[in-house]
Amino acid sequence: MRPEILQPLFAETEALDGVGPKIAKALAKLKLTRAVDMAFHLPTGMIQRIATNRLGHHLVGQRVVITLTPMDLRDGRGRAPLRIYAADTDGNMVALTFFNNPGWAKKQLPLGEAKRISGKLDAYGDQLQMVHPDVVDADPPLREPVYPLSEGLTNKRMRDLAKQVLDRAPELPEWIEPSVKSEREFPDWKQALDAAHESVDATAARHRLAYDEIFANQLTLLLIRQSARRRATRPLEGDGSLSAKLDLPFELTGAQARCVSEIKGDMAQERPMLRLLQGDVGSGKTLVALLAMLEAVEAGAQAAMLAPTEILARQHYDGLKRLCDPIGVNVAILTGRDKGKVRESTLMGLQDGSIHILVGTHAIFQQAVAYKDLGLVVVDEQHRFGVSQRLMLSEKGKRPPHLLAMTATPIPRTLTLTQYGEMEVSQIDELPPGRKPIDTLVVAEERLGDVVAGLERHVEAGGQAYWVCPLVEESDKIDATAAEDRAAALKARLGDKVGLVHGRMKGEEKDAVMERFARGDLAVLVATTVIEVGVDVPNASLMIIESAENFGLAQLHQLRGRVGRGEAKSRCLLLRGSNLSETARARLALMRETNDGFRIAEEDLRLRGPGEILGTRQSGDHVFRLAEPEDITRLAPAAQADARLLLGRDGGLDSERGQAARVCLYLFERDAAVGLLKGG
Ligand code: ADP
Ligand code: MG
Repeated sequence: MRPEILQPLFAETEALDGVGPKIAKALAKLKLTRAVDMAFHLPTGMIQRIATNRLGHHLVGQRVVITLTPMDLRDGRGRAPLRIYAADTDGNMVALTFFNNPGWAKKQLPLGEAKRISGKLDAYGDQLQMVHPDVVDADPPLREPVYPLSEGLTNKRMRDLAKQVLDRAPELPEWIEPSVKSEREFPDWKQALDAAHESVDATAARHRLAYDEIFANQLTLLLIRQSARRRATRPLEGDGSLSAKLDLPFELTGAQARCVSEIKGDMAQERPMLRLLQGDVGSGKTLVALLAMLEAVEAGAQAAMLAPTEILARQHYDGLKRLCDPIGVNVAILTGRDKGKVRESTLMGLQDGSIHILVGTHAIFQQAVAYKDLGLVVVDEQHRFGVSQRLMLSEKGKRPPHLLAMTATPIPRTLTLTQYGEMEVSQIDELPPGRKPIDTLVVAEERLGDVVAGLERHVEAGGQAYWVCPLVEESDKIDATAAEDRAAALKARLGDKVGLVHGRMKGEEKDAVMERFARGDLAVLVATTVIEVGVDVPNASLMIIESAENFGLAQLHQLRGRVGRGEAKSRCLLLRGSNLSETARARLALMRETNDGFRIAEEDLRLRGPGEILGTRQSGDHVFRLAEPEDITRLAPAAQADARLLLGRDGGLDSERGQAARVCLYLFERDAAVGLLKGG
């Protein structure tokens, strides 16, 4: 349960003074629904004001605070504004201009009475003017923070609400290691929050708040690790009897062999393995996973492989079965679609141990699915799953299974730390030999006609191609329509060699189409991003992506990885819309320049920030809201070391600092992580 001390921060913003339905709605647009959201909604700029007693053209464009005496006025006629001509002490004149509320302005500024005025000085021809200046009793601050706003909110209102939140915000106990705190000159939490709202230049304060967020993230991952490894498990050591019989048409790459031996080393331990296998698209992760699974089977245990989509589960099933049948290893599949007798018999086989390897979607971890002896779980395309799924996985089986997670998202090291900090990492940093680089071209969408003509030639020459349709919005329905329209247009030209898959189709329908494409009955597969992960059709050597600027770079890289798997030279055409921003152009240019997933990820991080790269929207993980990419690079290693040290000394978070760390976890809404502690 969230501690009492944090309650004021989790009050609704509607409880603040001055927040009616209209303001509440404007706040909701910025996702500011609770006090804590306001607290972490920090100013992003500063207003500067100059206090002066002399007007002058050199001040044009500045905000000034000055004493002025109204001398004369001209009433607005028709749509003309009210102008009040006022003088400084030297007699320099300025027109105070009011487009609305002239009555109020005249009352505030009676002729002959000196007033303190604050506003922005412009030039209107030769004349100085201030539009809608404020008449103030006390001088406003010369430097004032500016908040990101939405319609219906003024900066003044935001300041006021932030002040109210800061007044209610409690002092919190310290969770940061004292030496880290003093070395980095971090202020206390409450002080840091106050300072961060006062100025964008409060660097140490802002770093402290970012550090807290990263610390909560690291602590969460380490708690997952701790709880997954708390219970001992059975070491799994194979004798090579099955893997030796595998009939592979190729040798393992050096990188694959190294990863396999790292994994086997872990599986031979009494503590459950928690390892991430990272490798670019096409680097051959599936085979590494198979060798790990065979190790488990040789040791007398079962293995399960979780895939994010039905299509991918089927494809893994087919591939694994082909290799496993001849060596007497029984592979089965279980997805949400399996019902009735087939499902029953699979469940039975799992329970009596006659099924050695199970492949499937989420269905493989449902309550009803009982394994005889589940020793290893492989999660493919881990980036599609969130931390919560990792929590779930550790529940299954009497003894916790060894866990191998795989991802093709080549994220930079510091991000690996914040995303997978609880796991060891193995990297396949080498592609199988003979892969030809893919030529990537960026083509303006006006040249669609040429592109279609090129596609036609490609198909006539016996080639196959993917055509990926844009993500118009985060809506299956709109995406599906776009894909349907494109497929219809291409069919009109190329006939019924054109197939279509999108997210709104039933699983069976999708598979049937994929199947026909894989067999070569279809020459062109029009698709939404459902084909992003895993699918392997070596003869497809042309990839066309519409409105490529709407995709994340990592996603484009994954899509492009669908081609370049066969003998033929492959090409990828990125169709782009007009009026692209500089950033969008730079991103597409980078895709053209390199096939190196790591470089792409580093650049994407620089150009767009971490949320997109990590695919956090897909997985439902928390996005950092305080920590910027630079903060993550700068602070994540220290925050991880800090969290490690704390848990090493006080694994139950029971000490005074441990209790403070719990508060930090609750503050960043990592409640589930606290739940992993005994008595949490
Ligand atoms: P990913 O890492 O993207 O999951 P896959 O496991 O699907 O990659 O492998 C991509 C392709 O490379 C598959 O067709 C696979 O058979 C092939 N492959 C895997 N390992 C090797 C190897 N050592 N030599 C040659 N081809 C390989
Ligand atoms: Mg794969």
